[in-house]
Amino acid sequence: MDATAQLQASLDAIRARIAAACRAAGRDPSGVRLLPVSKTVDAARLRLAYDLGIREFGENKVQEALAKSEAMADLPDLRWVLIGHLQTNKAKHAARFAGEFQALDSLRVAQALDTQLQKHGRALDVLVQVNTSGEASKFGLAPGEVPAFVRELPAFSALRVRGLMTLALFSEDESRVRPCFVRLRELRDRLRQEAPDGIAMDELSMGMSGDFELAIAEGATTVRVGTAIFGTRSTPDSAYWPDATGHQ
Ligand SMILES: *Cc1c(COP(=O)(O)O)cnc(C)c1O
Repeated sequence: MDATAQLQASLDAIRARIAAACRAAGRDPSGVRLLPVSKTVDAARLRLAYDLGIREFGENKVQEALAKSEAMADLPDLRWVLIGHLQTNKAKHAARFAGEFQALDSLRVAQALDTQLQKHGRALDVLVQVNTSGEASKFGLAPGEVPAFVRELPAFSALRVRGLMTLALFSEDESRVRPCFVRLRELRDRLRQEAPDGIAMDELSMGMSGDFELAIAEGATTVRVGTAIFGTRSTPDSAYWPDATGHQ
């Protein structure tokens, strides 16, 4: 198989698994967005994915995403989704090209993004990252901090808040992973009741290559899938989140 056929086969396989997980959960597959996560994958391969109809890529690091967005600037309708922790001083880069940011976890970053976005006359879809596993190594707000945090967000008019994102515990043990997804869904449901005007709480971005079926069973609206589409990465996951030694 050539590289394009291989990519097509991986995408078909993941879409079939998403559809099966939706059927098992009594959900409509159109309610689950597959976000291909392209970190470490070079622009040449991403062009193949584009030719197969992919129009969004998830990237963990701003610099890498920015470089690829520039290398692929000739492709229309391409949307870059930042899914990794953002430092305040990188907000100015993110504000230039990102269409969505899924890892908002501080008012300082919200402020920095809003200021830069206003400057460029842009808006950004945003998800609030929640640490549902209780691990110190994970980014994101503790669930208890989220309601007060969300109440502050209408002040940032360039941020279009859409919902919540989490990384579950990395474990083979379903009974430890599932509660992370349940926690995020319950928090989202609660925030739907009390969120201020202009703050939407529809999106639940949860589930990765190793656990997306479980996440769909618990209500995921976006699954972020990297290795199951593009293959194993040469960079260890500890480059993306501290202390990821238990993963893969
Ligand atoms: C890399 C990454 C993913 C995808 O991980 P895979 O295990 O390769 O599917 C999902 N979410 C975030 C935040 C990531 O950095």
